[in-house]
Amino acid sequence: MVFGEYLTFIRQKTRALLILVFLHSFMINRIYLSSNHPFATPQTIESIAHSSLAEMRFEGRISFENLEFAARDFGNRYHLMPSAVLHPKSVSDISSILRYVYDLGLSSELKVAARGHGHSLEGQAQAYRGVVISMESLRDPEMSFHGGKHPYVDVSAGELWINILHESLKRGLPPRSWTDYLHLTVGGTLSNAGISGQALRHGPQINNVYQLQVVTGYITITCSKMHTKILRRPSNNLNLLCAGRGEVVTCSDKQNTDLFHAVLGGLGQFGIITQARIALEPAPKMVKWIRALYSDFSTFARDQEHLISSNNSFDYVEGFIIINRTGLLNNWRSSFSPKDPIRADQFNSDGKLLFCLEIAKYYNPRESDNIDQDIDTLLSELSYIRSTLFMSEVSYVNILDRVHVSEVKLREEGLWEVPHPWLNLLVPRSRIHEFVAEVFGNIVKDMSSGPVLIYPVNKTRWRSGTSLITPDDDVFYMIAFLSSAMPSSTGKDGLKHILSQNKKILSFSQRPYLGIKQYLPHYSTEEEWEAHFGPHWEVFYRRKLSYDPLAILAPGQRIFRRGIAYVQQ
Ligand code: FAD
Repeated sequence: MVFGEYLTFIRQKTRALLILVFLHSFMINRIYLSSNHPFATPQTIESIAHSSLAEMRFEGRISFENLEFAARDFGNRYHLMPSAVLHPKSVSDISSILRYVYDLGLSSELKVAARGHGHSLEGQAQAYRGVVISMESLRDPEMSFHGGKHPYVDVSAGELWINILHESLKRGLPPRSWTDYLHLTVGGTLSNAGISGQALRHGPQINNVYQLQVVTGYITITCSKMHTKILRRPSNNLNLLCAGRGEVVTCSDKQNTDLFHAVLGGLGQFGIITQARIALEPAPKMVKWIRALYSDFSTFARDQEHLISSNNSFDYVEGFIIINRTGLLNNWRSSFSPKDPIRADQFNSDGKLLFCLEIAKYYNPRESDNIDQDIDTLLSELSYIRSTLFMSEVSYVNILDRVHVSEVKLREEGLWEVPHPWLNLLVPRSRIHEFVAEVFGNIVKDMSSGPVLIYPVNKTRWRSGTSLITPDDDVFYMIAFLSSAMPSSTGKDGLKHILSQNKKILSFSQRPYLGIKQYLPHYSTEEEWEAHFGPHWEVFYRRKLSYDPLAILAPGQRIFRRGIAYVQQ
């Protein structure tokens, strides 16, 4: 089918669906609201909605007080107060609330956001005057492990990755792909991607999930010999359209594939993930953790790209940029040992722009002799500054949970719950030199507010068709400006300065010819979202119409306005 015909086909299907949705919500509105309340205004409809919510019965509980936590996130810059927080105990609690909000139809403004661990940066898990579903309350199912050729664990989507790590290590079978910080939920990271230094082997976390259970805002499915909920009459016809609100759907690469792909990297737009089946692999016990410096970006990038493209390589490859730091290597010594202490002492990092390669090799102690040889061979192929090689031996748990160690220290100093104006970019390999020259040559002169990560990933191993948007090149770089703003500072580590620097970086990065994409994207206008999705916008939009046409879900992403998916047609 040529693209024009495809679009016409989509539009026809969409229009048919919208008419059904409209009739449905109109009918429900009349039944639940208008007929009982003939003079209902939007305000009265909202208050009726809230009082009805209070009367609903859940296996968990709904609360209308002490909601402040749901109006906060790690970014600590957006505070949107919800009207209620649902603490679900079962999937049917989630299904009931979605069905209820959906049935309010177009006349209500009520929206619903799933909240994982609230570690978003710009209010993405918040819902102003809406209902926040606190996913961590959902403990259904209990973690359940399965061995065999393709081992996996079934977990609730509200589970924290750190808990999965500890439980899975009791069986020697942890997940294959991680994020740098594990106090995040399964549903939260799968709604983005879950990218880290392990992606070179296994792709991001959205690659390492076999199956999901999702509660959709709305779904239409082709079915036979069933009642249609809209037409309310039985039929023996095959291929009749069935529609449901708050439907619980199992999806995978083989079953309800479109929904599966939609929710992976889907920014919470298409349904609430309630359960995930996550791929596992045999656990290593120990890790050799290595850092080495480069003063030349081309050499650094060539080595990083070499490491992510070869089969026999390290198990983790990341890196970071060092701008204008003094005494750097001395700081490392608390956890790393220099390979050549005398020459390391002579190295002076002052004022230089440096690039640090951070790599890790997993092993089990029985293989210890070989592992050192293997690492020496791999390192001999790299061109880092020889005096700057530092190594550490840590347990597998310790390297994975490394950011939590910093969290504990920062909390003690009152520096964890500060604003975090982070900026994450995916830069195509073909533009990385231009990006580094402009951004680190002209825009960013100092980075005292936090680390800047930089490492390439290889897209050829990534699942295609998901909602995640990446650059077109097969290899692209994750560049993460992980700033913390000091609350009272008016200097370079203050919020104003960091935001203005981010704005300059973004205004350069958004030049269309560069093909740079935001990760954990944040935009203000629909045009910007369309530009972000590019040719994938049509699919994203079509999926929104299929699974959440009244735009009830994840309003904090600010992609669609309530009812907008319908209204725009
Ligand atoms: P939340 O912030 O609660 O939710 C995020 C979005 O997903 C919201 O739109 C929410 O509505 C939606 N959502 C949440 N749960 C569900 C669900 N069950 N179903 C449907 N939608 C849902 N990311 C990486 O990829 N790699 C990293 O290395 C990495 N490191 C990080 C380190 C730190 C210290 C922090 C704070 C974040 C890091 N992140 C990283 C980003 C992180 O993956 C995202 O911020 C993620 O959204 C946080 O997960 P959460 O469980 O707190 O989700």
